[in-house]
Amino acid sequence: MKMKILMISPECAPFSKAGGLGDMVSSISKRFAEAGCDVKIFTPLYASVKRSGGMKKQMDNLSVHMGLGLEYGASVWSAPLGRAEALLLEFNMYFDRPGIYNYNGADYSDNGGRFAFMCRAALDWCLQSGWIPDVVHCHDWTAGLAPVLLNTSLRNSPLGGCASVFTIHNLQHQGIFDKGVLEYAGVPMSEFRSDSCEAYGSLNMMKGGLYNCTKITTVSPTYAGEIRTPAYGCGLDGLLRFRGADLVGILNGVDSEAWNPETDKLIAANYSLADMSGKAECKKALQKRMGLKASPKIPVFGVVSRLYSQKGLDLLARIAAELVSHMDIQIALLGSGEYWQERAFSDLTAAYPGKISAYIGFDNELAHQIEAGSDFFLMPSRFEPCGLNQMYSMMYGSLPVVRSTGGLCDTVDQYSEATGSGDGFRFSDPTCEALYNTIGWACSTWYDRPGDIEKMRRSGMSKDFSWGKSAEKYALVYKWAVAARSAGI
Ligand code: ADP
Repeated sequence: MKMKILMISPECAPFSKAGGLGDMVSSISKRFAEAGCDVKIFTPLYASVKRSGGMKKQMDNLSVHMGLGLEYGASVWSAPLGRAEALLLEFNMYFDRPGIYNYNGADYSDNGGRFAFMCRAALDWCLQSGWIPDVVHCHDWTAGLAPVLLNTSLRNSPLGGCASVFTIHNLQHQGIFDKGVLEYAGVPMSEFRSDSCEAYGSLNMMKGGLYNCTKITTVSPTYAGEIRTPAYGCGLDGLLRFRGADLVGILNGVDSEAWNPETDKLIAANYSLADMSGKAECKKALQKRMGLKASPKIPVFGVVSRLYSQKGLDLLARIAAELVSHMDIQIALLGSGEYWQERAFSDLTAAYPGKISAYIGFDNELAHQIEAGSDFFLMPSRFEPCGLNQMYSMMYGSLPVVRSTGGLCDTVDQYSEATGSGDGFRFSDPTCEALYNTIGWACSTWYDRPGDIEKMRRSGMSKDFSWGKSAEKYALVYKWAVAARSAGI
């Protein structure tokens, strides 16, 4: 079925990206557009978005009808994204800022209003342009009020029949604000109740979205199970069990145009399973760029990550000194986030020159170079809804060392010393000891069983992480949502 799909998302690569959400929205949109669907992605035009020649003003008099009788004028820019169309919302009061969600570590205090505005503007754009989607696909808490609006204020509008699919990329961030934001969004205050938008006396945008959407997805099967438990449910596990019949875990695919060692223009040399010589050049270039000792023999452990508790890199910060003192390994890290973690990795770089090198910041080119130039890739996440980096690393022949959680379980197969099978190293406990021992295991495999390393590399690089199967599953969810909505659900 050639559907009309509207994505509402706070991020869309390459225009804006803070993490995997930006990659996923962009690649799934391109994929469905390629298959013949009419896909538009509604997302803010932040100050950081590069204005290219391909970007054209699409509407300059969009009236955004907020609650309390407030009406604002905004503009919408259009840019091609493969065969899909990105619609970038220009509204300087909210989006002409350097960060997407925060700046210098502090969240913008009006994030509730900013993203309520994004939702309302997306739906008002549909009404004013007459483009009525079959499915509104909402991404994370920022888009949580869209399904609520579709079920309430806009139920009797031409959008009232649209199905909504809500994707949980990360349950930890729920968009909790004062209830005044609900009124500002133009949602009836009768929705401020515990079986809709209210939680613990505040507005919870994620909860509102989860209650009101037609179907729910999350980004891996294991995470879909985990979030139904108190340990991973971030207080919403009861609701997710309640809506369990409508919740599906679908693994994110990888955008192979952006991430492919055979064609990647950001790395020192291209390579493939058939000819791996370029990988050695990439390692050499990475060691040079990051000031690590030039040596093909020493294994490089790469990291590209947000530096927050979720990612478990505080564990690495605690053991890095001991690791490089007792094992002949190198650590190449790219990341930004919590100030103490940034400081810790900078201090380690100064204390262990040539062995540890951290670049604090966000740098897409270096991210590609680390994937290509490292031998192992570290992701000791406390939880990981899907995780893209472990997939990139396997595609680039860098063996993942991961904690067994969420999407990491669904993508990384444990190495077996007995058979040499598997494509990565997994551990269970989120502790320094478990991480230390697992890095030690990877290191001893590197030095003592190089044949197994080669075999694992080949196994990881042969895996199919493309959108193929996952897109088929999303297509079924869209159909299922449209059928349910037509049945009045
Ligand atoms: P999450 O979405 O939780 O941050 P994922 O592994 O799903 O984690 O996706 C992270 C994405 O963001 C990847 O594409 C990764 O390369 C990118 N990324 C994360 N931190 C940085 C950084 N400091 N510089 C460049 N890219 C980064």
